[in-house]
Amino acid sequence: MPADCQTFYVTTPIYYVNDAPHIGHAYTTVAADVLARWHRQRQEPVRFLTGTDEHGQKVLRTAEAHGVGPQEWVDRLVDTAWKPVLETLDVSNDDFIRTTEPRHKERVQRFWATLHERGEVYQGSYEGPYCVGCEEYKLPGDLVAGTGELEGQQLCPIHGRPVEMLAENNYFFRMSAYAERLLELYEANPTFVQPESARNEVIAFVRRGLQDLSISRSTFDWGIPIPWDSEHVLYVWIDALLNYATAVGYGSQDAADQALFETVWPADVHLVGKDILRFHAAIWPAMLMAADLPLPKQVFAHGWLLVGGEKMSKSKLTGIAPAQIIDTFGSDAFRYYFLRAIAFGQDGSFSWEDLHARYTAELANGLGNLASRVAAMVGKYYGGVLPEAGPAGPAEERLAELAAQAVAGADG
Ligand SMILES: [Zn+2]
Repeated sequence: MPADCQTFYVTTPIYYVNDAPHIGHAYTTVAADVLARWHRQRQEPVRFLTGTDEHGQKVLRTAEAHGVGPQEWVDRLVDTAWKPVLETLDVSNDDFIRTTEPRHKERVQRFWATLHERGEVYQGSYEGPYCVGCEEYKLPGDLVAGTGELEGQQLCPIHGRPVEMLAENNYFFRMSAYAERLLELYEANPTFVQPESARNEVIAFVRRGLQDLSISRSTFDWGIPIPWDSEHVLYVWIDALLNYATAVGYGSQDAADQALFETVWPADVHLVGKDILRFHAAIWPAMLMAADLPLPKQVFAHGWLLVGGEKMSKSKLTGIAPAQIIDTFGSDAFRYYFLRAIAFGQDGSFSWEDLHARYTAELANGLGNLASRVAAMVGKYYGGVLPEAGPAGPAEERLAELAAQAVAGADG
């Protein structure tokens, strides 16, 4: 246990409620859960946060398409899909934050009011290609040319759908001023972004130079109002990133919340998918630097789950709900499979055949067989009562050594 007893704080991204949860989301959540359980069984204080990201144009449009207001729409999805999936997966999160909760909204407003007062925010105009799927302005170099029906159009490389040209009068965060400090951070703390491939990508991105970041939208109102200008709502990403701090008391006036923030912040690790790496490894630390807040210790970007060679997504109809697997194999097998079959940090392919093969070979024939043979021998030779342990011989010593090595390796 660390001497200062600082809480081990692990987070998943907050998931965009527009999608129903699929095994890609479950993969991140289970990985965070394994980390949380590991530190808890080592008697460390642990805080494990997950939650949902509920603002933005995409949610608004989907709610409208279903003929309901956005709040009703997100309430329904959170209650019927996002909270239940945590039970399905046996996840041990300590808190679940929703970005539509008053605690989050107030604290986010306080954060941006502070940056505005400090001169970190200014008003300006911006025009550029925007992907509603990503809720992000794209750089022209990020786009790919459409083919077939989409010939002549520029597409988001993640969504494969045409971008829209947006022009807005917005507020901007002076992010360009933080490029040097970010590069110094990556240099001074080589494990801040992991794995190495992710670190290299972020460094290359920041080296190309950062633009100031548009942080407000005025063309729709489904978001947190900007405290000094009610015509604008905050850009969904810079509202969402703050969840990691607001959920542990940042910006609260309450003494207990402030004490929580002191013991829990900064986060030990933000687990993210590699498609949202730049937000977490460049924008988020720049925001914290601007507010003079401590930085998280690590951003770890895992790979994608591929199904049939493509990133899984609901819009491409490759999304598999965790319950489809767990109803047959159980949550322990689900958790085991995804952490065993895929090297964490790399892309991995999911297939039912591979799941079934590992389930049979490793869990049923390996572990299951061992357990059943031991139980049968205890029954046959010792009348069903486990005998007292004898003195340790070379075999036991070797086993204890292996176990100690495994613990040290896992903690490394
Ligand atoms: Zn996109």
